[in-house]
Amino acid sequence: MSLTANEHISIEKIKKSKIDQVDFDKLTFGKNFTDYMFECDYKDGKWQNPTIKPYGNLMLSPATKVFHYGQAVFEGMKAYKDDNGEVFLFRPEENFKRINISSKRMAIPEFPREFFFEALHTLLQLDKDWVQPGDGNSLYIRPFAMATEVGVSAAPSDEYKFMILMAPAQAYYTGDVRVVIAEKFSRSADGGVGYAKAAGNYGAQFYPTNLAREKGFQQVIWTDSNEHKYLEEAGTMNVFFRINDTLITAPISDRILDGVTRKSVLKLAERAGIKTEVRRIQVSELIEAAKNNELMEIFGAGTAAVISPVSAFSYKETVYDIPKTNDGYAVRFKKELMDIQQNRAEDPFGWRYPL
Ligand code: PMP
Repeated sequence: MSLTANEHISIEKIKKSKIDQVDFDKLTFGKNFTDYMFECDYKDGKWQNPTIKPYGNLMLSPATKVFHYGQAVFEGMKAYKDDNGEVFLFRPEENFKRINISSKRMAIPEFPREFFFEALHTLLQLDKDWVQPGDGNSLYIRPFAMATEVGVSAAPSDEYKFMILMAPAQAYYTGDVRVVIAEKFSRSADGGVGYAKAAGNYGAQFYPTNLAREKGFQQVIWTDSNEHKYLEEAGTMNVFFRINDTLITAPISDRILDGVTRKSVLKLAERAGIKTEVRRIQVSELIEAAKNNELMEIFGAGTAAVISPVSAFSYKETVYDIPKTNDGYAVRFKKELMDIQQNRAEDPFGWRYPL
């Protein structure tokens, strides 16, 4: 697909690339950024001045609205390079749609499609050397939008910035993931903003996640905010449960992010003839299955780690271990997804987006 913009993006060139200063074998996720970034302003009722410029600091007034009211949304997506040096995105249309769904909920004006895709094309052309080939290597892409009007009145901003940053990432090994099932705190509520990638959703999770960490767990699996009875999703991942051979995941709702990895896993499971159930699942059902040795796997699904197997969960101070497996659904879907993303397998669903 080739995309053209109504208005060309202006490009400010770097003097010298920083790429030589980066050790691609020792990357900390999200800490090193590429040479360029994209910036576009919303002013006088329209998005204007799309610009690609050297990555650098912003100068903002301390009264900028985003600092006070958290009116901000973001996305997370990845580019991959195959062994022939071709660069691909994975289902970028989904991220484009989702950032505008998030923006709408946060009263941020929707961003135009042509700017979004032209920005990605141009950035990835300029920064193509930052996308490393090889198993699990990728370039993490962070589009975001924020309120930039100066003033502390609690009303929607009339100015915004839309930006895209890119950070090289290595294969992401989450190690042993032990989770706590939420009994008191909630990440979202009916009628709230859980389905949006709104900045504050993430800030609000840090405190309960820290409490879980102090007890030796890495993540929280959130439950419904009414009764804490139904399992929903994790910090930055949707969650799947395998009971016997059936794969179960919660339906998308007001409270749950519509994850791209989640819907891709559901397609792969359907293709493999694996029985899937998209339905609400109770904590008590999970515990019952664990006690009867019918809980075979729990895994998270999200862009950063792709698939992340869970080794144990805790509920009301009891820890339930999940048997280790090297040939379960988690391993299988991770390989299948990465093979499609890195152009090592057929792409029957049309998920790869060549640049
Ligand atoms: N849930 C939440 C709350 C998330 O932040 C993410 C990461 N975007 C996901 C699920 C997984 O979504 P995706 O597969 O699109 O990365």
